[in-house]
Amino acid sequence: MPLDPETVILVAEDHDFQRRTMVRMLRSLGLIDILEAANGREALEVIRSAPRSPEIVLSDLDMPEMDGMAFIHRLGETKSGLEVIIISALDPVLLGSVAKMADAYGVHLLGVIEKPVTRARLAQLLAGHLTVGHAPQPVPAPPVFGWQEIRAGIANREFEPFFQPKIEMASGRVVGAEARARGRPPTRGIVAPYAFILELERHKDIDALTFLMLEKAAHTCRDWLAAGLDSTVSVNLSLTSLADTTLADRIIACVKGAGLEPQRMVLEITETAAMTELAPALENLARLRMHGFGLSIDDYGTGFASMQQLARVPFTELKIDQGFVTGCARNRAAHVIVEASLALARGLGLKAVAEGIETEEDWVTLKATGCDIAQGYFIARPLEEEAFLEFCRQRKKGSA
Ligand code: C2E
Ligand code: MG
Ligand code: MG
Repeated sequence: MPLDPETVILVAEDHDFQRRTMVRMLRSLGLIDILEAANGREALEVIRSAPRSPEIVLSDLDMPEMDGMAFIHRLGETKSGLEVIIISALDPVLLGSVAKMADAYGVHLLGVIEKPVTRARLAQLLAGHLTVGHAPQPVPAPPVFGWQEIRAGIANREFEPFFQPKIEMASGRVVGAEARARGRPPTRGIVAPYAFILELERHKDIDALTFLMLEKAAHTCRDWLAAGLDSTVSVNLSLTSLADTTLADRIIACVKGAGLEPQRMVLEITETAAMTELAPALENLARLRMHGFGLSIDDYGTGFASMQQLARVPFTELKIDQGFVTGCARNRAAHVIVEASLALARGLGLKAVAEGIETEEDWVTLKATGCDIAQGYFIARPLEEEAFLEFCRQRKKGSA
């Protein structure tokens, strides 16, 4: 899809020649409405006073008066909704750190371009504006739902799994899918998990949702198997649920009751807090593993998902956190951490999963490093059941 020529773009760059070059490149890409500024302060003024406000800003980092960092900070504060492309000649590690900073300030970054800017790289990043802007994704809604409202929704079964494919990198085959909870209230669109999971966890009341997801995911996977699709299904488990030692037996009964063998299900455990009730958690996990469930350590490398957990829980899978995966082809630190995690997984005999693969170059890098399984927007977003099946059919056709 070509870029809409009406898209307003702002170029913030103090170096006249470089700014003019970028403007020329943007024109050659078909853009008409291009605004210019020589530093962050000027850029903010231009945004305020432009007849049509820009949708995308290309910003240098090292500029006089107000540098790129301060500019991005201000964009975050004003909740401008602008998308940013950072252009810089600075060290890639520093650029990576600024990208994290932008994210932390709530600014959407389309990407980073190391100088000198090329037309091809510009076009590539601008294309991200289209995919982001046009993809029918659930809005990461703020937690506008109260606890009682969420509970009622669960009782009415207004939550359902979307399935994100997991691909074996060596063969390109779909080997599994992760079930991701989505709210489907009658009055609103699709609600992302951030709007309800944290609230439920805070009230230590996530089990009803977990069991709804387990049941629906197990049912669906049983249907896939019956239709000849050789796949597993993964379900996310909250750590708060593990304190109750009856959990494992209830999960076993639920999944078997839905007609699925536990060997076909992987339980992903994310640690958002330290495992305070260690003994019951270990009891549950050992029991689940004994009955054949796969156990995955989710978001490995962040928070409490640590080496200590690897040593004491019988995991079968290690999911490298997307914070290290996304962009690992261009970020040395992330790449080194990914490699070390893969070596750890190999040494412990765990399947390694990389989640958050968004580009072909990250796919290529991970494949070359020996990662087993891939997941991410580059392959597919979380899909409704029908769309997931269609995805598998297309994939099979493509590889046949
Ligand atoms: P998670 O399990 O670590 O999932 C990662 C999140 O990243 C998912 O968001 C997924 O849709 C998204 N994602 C996948 N590929 C990419 C990619 O290439 N790029 C980017 N930027 N993002 C990608 P989602 O579905 O909104 O889930 C967020 C978190 O909510 C999950 O993190 C999980 O911790 C939690 N969650 C989701 N469903 C359930 C559930 O049924 N039960 C529990 N307890 N937690 C759930
Ligand atoms: Mg997960
Ligand atoms: Mg994760």
